[in-house]
Amino acid sequence: MMEMNKEVVMERFIRYVTFDTQSNDENSSCPSTPGQVVLAQYVAKELGKIGLEEIAVDNNGYVTATLPANGRPQGSVIGFISHMDTSPDMNGTPVKPRLVKEYDGKDIVLNKEKSIVLSPQDFPELTAYIGQDLLVTDGITLLGSDDKAGMCAIVSAMEYLLAHPEIQHGKVRIGFTPDEEIGRSADLFDVPAFGAEFAYTVDGGEIGAIEYENFNAANVMVRIQGRIVHPGTAKGKMINALSIAAEWQQMLPAGQRPEYTEGYEGFFHVNKLSGSVESAVISLLVRDHDLVSYEKRKSFLQVMADTFNAKYGPETIQLEIKDLYYNMREKIQPVMFIIDLARDAMEAVGVVPKTKPIRGGTDGARLSFMGLPCPNLFTGGHNFHGKYEFLPVLSLIKSAETVVEIIRRVGIR
Ligand SMILES: [Zn+2]
Repeated sequence: MMEMNKEVVMERFIRYVTFDTQSNDENSSCPSTPGQVVLAQYVAKELGKIGLEEIAVDNNGYVTATLPANGRPQGSVIGFISHMDTSPDMNGTPVKPRLVKEYDGKDIVLNKEKSIVLSPQDFPELTAYIGQDLLVTDGITLLGSDDKAGMCAIVSAMEYLLAHPEIQHGKVRIGFTPDEEIGRSADLFDVPAFGAEFAYTVDGGEIGAIEYENFNAANVMVRIQGRIVHPGTAKGKMINALSIAAEWQQMLPAGQRPEYTEGYEGFFHVNKLSGSVESAVISLLVRDHDLVSYEKRKSFLQVMADTFNAKYGPETIQLEIKDLYYNMREKIQPVMFIIDLARDAMEAVGVVPKTKPIRGGTDGARLSFMGLPCPNLFTGGHNFHGKYEFLPVLSLIKSAETVVEIIRRVGIR
């Protein structure tokens, strides 16, 4: 039976979240914020202390290290990856985590002064953790379990394996990336240098989560050219770009929006609209797990553009469709044993695996298409990117144990 030291793991997590590593998409350098470099260097030092090898922090702030094989005939080299940045959506400093001991099932007052309460009425999933210790925020910042819980689970697993040489294993690579929250963490990830046959991101939510399906995703800009004329003499001459924008949105399938969809249901999502009579721009997201229906959605938009151009004149609508990422399922399917491996490992440490399609993307999706199949494992955190974020300590421990158990099982087939 594995015995992770709960105090050590928790202390490590609390240490990581005190680093301000909020990323910033307005800065094009990598990492986008200096705080991430500070954490990268800090964790690199820690990895050295616990005894990992080949520790490197590259010029872009990516941290990699190796846990060498210890006696097991070399099988697959596997990797574990998490990201160091926190979301720009919510204040990320100073994070002051608080430990709620043996949660009693009632409201948790996060901030008395501001009357911010984490309540099971709003978040019924809390009741699954009655009796457990929870890490919560002070109501002012996010907690940062996305993804410092992942970092913590990986480092704690490495520490555990180095302290338990009786557990034989092959070579393991670990990687910590910057700027995942702004969609850039895979950009400069050196897959060949990482040198793993497959890897897992440890960046998921509640205990047991294992994810290997995500959206196919395109971002679309709809540029609308109107014609401004003095309103007093506009009859038959003015083309109001704002009216066309409204008409455009009305023509999108009404039920296929984020607020009406779940599971494997795709959507169109207008997330920004700006303009005047003369011109307007609509920013629109297209998301679908199924590649065929994803392509259909994009051609539907093209047909809409053609229809509008026939009605209002050529070049009234200009469409710009940019594919962002694809469903990693296609790349995982040929190596499904890595999903089974993770499921078996979870069960071995007493966790019930839960497979769910991701309604978004992950670093792993892009890495999978870069040649590193990379499903996503739970960290244990809930309510990411906000002040109601919380992390059950036991879930974090189980995340670290899952990492250990996967490593132990690789090659025993
Ligand atoms: Zn994350």
